[in-house]
Amino acid sequence: MNKLIIFDCDGTLYQQPDGPFLDSPFWQEVIEKSIDLIAETKKYAKDEAKNIFHNFFIDYGGEISRAFNERLGVSMDEYFSHTWGKIHPRDYIQRGAIHAKTLDQVLTKIAPNLAVLTNAPQPWVLNVLREIGIEKYFCGNVWTGETAIRKPTRESYLQIINKFGVLPKETLMIGDDEKLDIQVPLELGITTVLVNPYNKPTKARYQITDINKLVEVLK
Ligand SMILES: [Mg+2]
Repeated sequence: MNKLIIFDCDGTLYQQPDGPFLDSPFWQEVIEKSIDLIAETKKYAKDEAKNIFHNFFIDYGGEISRAFNERLGVSMDEYFSHTWGKIHPRDYIQRGAIHAKTLDQVLTKIAPNLAVLTNAPQPWVLNVLREIGIEKYFCGNVWTGETAIRKPTRESYLQIINKFGVLPKETLMIGDDEKLDIQVPLELGITTVLVNPYNKPTKARYQITDINKLVEVLK
């Protein structure tokens, strides 16, 4: 019997274009907002701020929030609310968003508890849930990526299962990324569903091309 469904956010609750995140228009917007924040915080000219961002990327890779914290004294919350939190989801949620009706059916036919587990930061994720119109389904049950307990660690899954007091075998994980959303849940005995519009190879128990087909596949 299913008691809990954990959803990834981006690429799962709505579709994302195929291809690497660091090549996406979304990431370009994160870069622009980050450069603006450097310029504002330190009163630097834009070109100077661009150079600083470039060096952050060389030194910290994708962990830009850590660079802001260690080099500029900007807290992680401040960084994410001024960058990811300022990006409007409307421009990125164009296709394949989950319908509230699907979640109503999921709750009555598949499992009574819903959660979100994502490595994206909270200001963005809450804006996404609001934009899709589904925030009421996940009140207080949204785990985001600002902590060290991130996907794909086992702990990131176990903390949610423990909060709900359920077993892995009573839990479903729905995601779009084999490494982040499928591999570890499989090892833990969680039932996995890959949202797979681009037909990638997978070890997930189920796959769907459209999140709104979830109930059809699982019933
Ligand atoms: Mg995803």
